[in-house]
Amino acid sequence: MLGTVLIANRGEIACRIARTCRAMGVRSVAVYSEADADAAHVHACDQAWPIGAAPARESYLNTERILDVARRSGAEAIHPGYGFLSENADFAEACEQAGIRFIGPPAAAIRAMGSKSAAKTIMAEAGVPLVPGYHGEDQSLEHLAGVAEEIGYPVLIKASAGGGGKGMRRVDAPQDFEEALRSARRESQASFGDDTMLLEKYLLQPRHVEMQVFADRHGNVVHLFERDCSVQRRHQKVIEEAPAPGLGEAQRQAMGEAAVAAARAIGYVGAGTVEFIMDAQGEFFFMEMNTRLQVEHPVTEMITGEDLVAWQLDIAAGTPLPRSQEALTFTGHAFEARIYAEDPDRDFLPAIGTVSRLRMPAESRHVRIDTGIREGDTISMHYDPMIAKLVVWDRDRAAALQRLRRALQAWTVAGTTTNTRFLERIAAHPAFMAGGVDTSFIDSHREALFPAPTPVSDRLLAAAALFELLSVDQDAAARAQGSADPWSPWHSTDGWQPNSDNHHVLHFLDGEQDLTVVAHYRKDCFLLELPGGTVRANGTLYADGRLRGVLDGVHMDALALQAGDRLSVSVGDDARELVIHDPLTVGMADEIREGSLTAPMPGTVLAVLVAEGDHVDEGAPLMVLEAMKMEHTIRAFAPGRVENVNYRTGDQVSEGSVLLAIAAED
Ligand code: ADP
Ligand code: ADP
Ligand code: MG
Repeated sequence: MLGTVLIANRGEIACRIARTCRAMGVRSVAVYSEADADAAHVHACDQAWPIGAAPARESYLNTERILDVARRSGAEAIHPGYGFLSENADFAEACEQAGIRFIGPPAAAIRAMGSKSAAKTIMAEAGVPLVPGYHGEDQSLEHLAGVAEEIGYPVLIKASAGGGGKGMRRVDAPQDFEEALRSARRESQASFGDDTMLLEKYLLQPRHVEMQVFADRHGNVVHLFERDCSVQRRHQKVIEEAPAPGLGEAQRQAMGEAAVAAARAIGYVGAGTVEFIMDAQGEFFFMEMNTRLQVEHPVTEMITGEDLVAWQLDIAAGTPLPRSQEALTFTGHAFEARIYAEDPDRDFLPAIGTVSRLRMPAESRHVRIDTGIREGDTISMHYDPMIAKLVVWDRDRAAALQRLRRALQAWTVAGTTTNTRFLERIAAHPAFMAGGVDTSFIDSHREALFPAPTPVSDRLLAAAALFELLSVDQDAAARAQGSADPWSPWHSTDGWQPNSDNHHVLHFLDGEQDLTVVAHYRKDCFLLELPGGTVRANGTLYADGRLRGVLDGVHMDALALQAGDRLSVSVGDDARELVIHDPLTVGMADEIREGSLTAPMPGTVLAVLVAEGDHVDEGAPLMVLEAMKMEHTIRAFAPGRVENVNYRTGDQVSEGSVLLAIAAED
């Protein structure tokens, strides 16, 4: 059992590893860059050490600093997470030389799989099926173009050192080959410092199915079944699931055996993923092996009930695998959706910004959220813009998918653009619901997944209006709480409000579109004039952004989060970001100053304390009313001159009656 583990990573994966450390009674040590001084992972660990400036090169990729912290903090092992140093064989070696365990495979295994070309040679020898192609030494244009001709177009050019979809080009015709090769080489050289290329037949509409493997230091190797990661954009995973829909038991077994053989062939230790590409006939071929914990490992945890990080820590400590292949089973179905700060409508351009409001679905047996972002945190340009992973589980695929949709709907982020609505559209797409999706899914369904903007619905607009009206009520209530006279109608906004007409005009911007809602105050509700007609609306706004609205008697649940002048509103699967064009709160202050005073409900005037022409100071009592069996003293909100007094002591006043008017003085 390890005593102290340094986590050489940040964000959600550092938090996730820290969680298992805590559960196992292992001390955790965080490292952080200057940009992350107050990040979630810093607080998730027992200790936290600074390692340098914000750019990863100077901090999370700074081998010396990290090893130095490991020594000084007494860490016996380093967990690299994914990305950063996780597949860096030199780092793994440096750890071992420093007498610190690297929680991952031996450096030799990382090296063997670090080159896709070399990996393929090893896999071919181990009898693992490969996609037809070329991964040899001859890198000349003539040779590669000849091979492409032989295997037949379309072909895929891949960077041997590649990862994250970089240095990869699909080529459909011979005349495009040279240019594609050149640009893939450039990209690979720039990203990986190596421009060795390999060629593969480009499979049409294939599926990405990968196997989770584990090996201990005693020669035991098992697999923990497969994950289907076919929903991709730019060769990057978007939604993953386990098990792979429609995969037969015989196929699963064959793929599992191939993955175990692959791990054995390189003397593997720890967690690894063998990625296969599967064609329409169900035939599968080795693609690459990722020698680390995979981003999407939680779906495997959900269906197997195992904690893969706990397995990693035990293996690093020398413990044999906790289960044999025969003892491993899975149940139900799990999905993971990667929630990114990015704009799907602008070709998934990464977004930065401060997550000023963040609402996530409640976690439960069915819903798990792995995140390293809290409300108020900033998504910086320095690191991956992943905000969280939403993971759901249920007894079968349809039930799990329904949970995914609901959980995505409950997700609202204000302050930065995210892909949650895009994920929702995928999760609700009939082809995805039918299962058996392939890697061309997003491209094949562009119209449905990137719909042209539709007008904002009345329901959503009503929710936005209610949010504004109810927030003003709450502000008023808060003001009244802190005031000498909490009953003063100056604090009220429900019709005691001292403006000439008891309605407000609310403006929202939806892109360029200016949307107007006229809200009339009624005793127990608002009458909202919406594009499609007038509705009686009321509701309750909770501090966490939930809004329970009632529109013409029909209840609806909504979420509304404001960040500056931006308002993120969602009602069911309908969600928008609107700009509050003319904040009610701002407009109201002026109206109050020069307003008159109306009665919200029938009542009796008990006393009139001023006469026309009187000068009044702020807070001066003006009139006392009895309504709803309570006395209300009406006071001046601002200094001014009384222009009209419309009632005398003993008068009955009806709802909406203008009681008196004050002209404000500056
Ligand atoms: P990376 O290291 O970037 O993850 P991979 O080799 O794993 O590179 O490929 C990434 C993705 O590209 C795969 O998940 C798959 O969608 C697609 N892909 C890879 N090889 C092929 C192929 N031969 N034919 C069609 N698509 C492929
Ligand atoms: P996977 O198949 O697990 O998605 P990838 O190779 O695409 O594997 O990348 C794993 C994750 O690590 C991705 O989310 C990627 O954005 C992130 N990542 C990769 N390299 C880095 C890096 N140098 N710094 C930060 N994050 C990285
Ligand atoms: Mg891959």
